[in-house]
Amino acid sequence: MKNLIKQRVAVLGSGLTGKAIAMALLDLNIAVDLIEQTSPAKNFKSNVTLSISDASLKILQSLGIKKNKYSFWPLQKIILFDGLKKEAKPDTEFYNTDNKKFLSHIVKRNILEKEISNKLKKVKFIKNKIISIEGKGFLKKITFQNKKTSEYNLIIATEFNNLKLLSNEKKLNWDYSETAYTFVLHHKKLNNNCARQFFLKDGPLAFLPISNTHTSIVWSVKNKSNAEKIILNYEARLNFLKMISVSFYEVISCTNRLEKFGLTFEFLRRTVLSRVLFMGDITHKIHPIAGQGWNMTLRDINILVNILKEKLNKGYDIGDLGILKEYEKKTKASNLLFAMSIDLIRKAFRSQSLAITQLRKKSFSIASQPAVMNKIIDLADKGLRF
Ligand SMILES: Cc1cc2nc3c(=O)[nH]c(=O)nc-3n(C[C@H](O)[C@H](O)[C@H](O)COP(=O)(O)OP(=O)(O)OC[C@H]3O[C@@H](n4cnc5c(N)ncnc54)[C@H](O)[C@@H]3O)c2cc1C
Repeated sequence: MKNLIKQRVAVLGSGLTGKAIAMALLDLNIAVDLIEQTSPAKNFKSNVTLSISDASLKILQSLGIKKNKYSFWPLQKIILFDGLKKEAKPDTEFYNTDNKKFLSHIVKRNILEKEISNKLKKVKFIKNKIISIEGKGFLKKITFQNKKTSEYNLIIATEFNNLKLLSNEKKLNWDYSETAYTFVLHHKKLNNNCARQFFLKDGPLAFLPISNTHTSIVWSVKNKSNAEKIILNYEARLNFLKMISVSFYEVISCTNRLEKFGLTFEFLRRTVLSRVLFMGDITHKIHPIAGQGWNMTLRDINILVNILKEKLNKGYDIGDLGILKEYEKKTKASNLLFAMSIDLIRKAFRSQSLAITQLRKKSFSIASQPAVMNKIIDLADKGLRF
């Protein structure tokens, strides 16, 4: 691949997706410009965590990210509770029958971003507003606010703000009228390799271990609900968490600072155009209920990398529409089905109707059967592909 003329890609947006795809392209000897509107935040101490499945971690490792116990905290078990339980009896548990395998790994998003950023020394960071994107031939031309222009074989867009410069396609999208709050719980030391999720009336509350003394909380709630009032008041929040986790944590405190995210569903109907590819949340933004959002993107990146490895060796242009269409064919339908399934799971857990409550009970008992449990674990690990 070293003999080939260097091709150029502009990646719009330097969130996790932009950085990860830039890292993957550098490895394929592609020149990458990473275009961001704001300066990268230095020393921003975010507490947001991501659950990265075992298969997704392998993708990150294949891109050069090292697995370190302190950045990827391993999960052996996930316990689910349907509603607020007085007793510690879970409704179902997921664990690998092979106890050497982990279900997932919890990583702090800013640590992961930093590790990826360390691999981007050869990337040119451009901080400028894009005015126009033109070109139907072999190259796409970007014009910036300062009148400078740059030409690229391919543009990979990972942010919503420039979408209108590239496409006027309608998105499939809706607002959940929910907010996800994240913060960290400090508790007495224990072997902390088990995640727990409570499906409460106002939304799911997840406990995601990040060390033997700290657990990350992701609590998604209906806007203006009682649960939201509890979250917004430190004492009320701490007391609620002490009460709900009494059988598994001896809670000491929780961080005062909350990070909040308005929740929406978004699905882009076309993920490729002439010399343009969309990736990340811009193509499929889903509810965090199952911790799958970025896992979907990592699977997409893996598929693109595998296609590119084969095609670039044969001398293809990275912006070749055939390559982009092959990528779309391998990702779009399965991503839509997967995203809709997560949406359905959210709906099923929000409903308080007797019929749905009974159906949930039945589903939990079916999910506890080893063959079904293994299938669910496999789906959460590797996603859906057909
Ligand atoms: C509460 C919560 C919990 C989650 N938990 C999990 C989990 O456990 N597991 C999981 O896999 N996923 C999880 N997710 C999803 C995951 O966080 C997202 O999928 C991921 O962060 C999306 O990254 P991205 O780079 O695609 O998008 P973004 O993070 O939105 O990045 C877009 C980037 O584009 C930049 N940008 C914006 N406008 C412009 C412009 N005009 N020009 C240039 N750049 C611009 C932005 O500054 C940003 O850097 C969770 C999400 C939430 C909200």
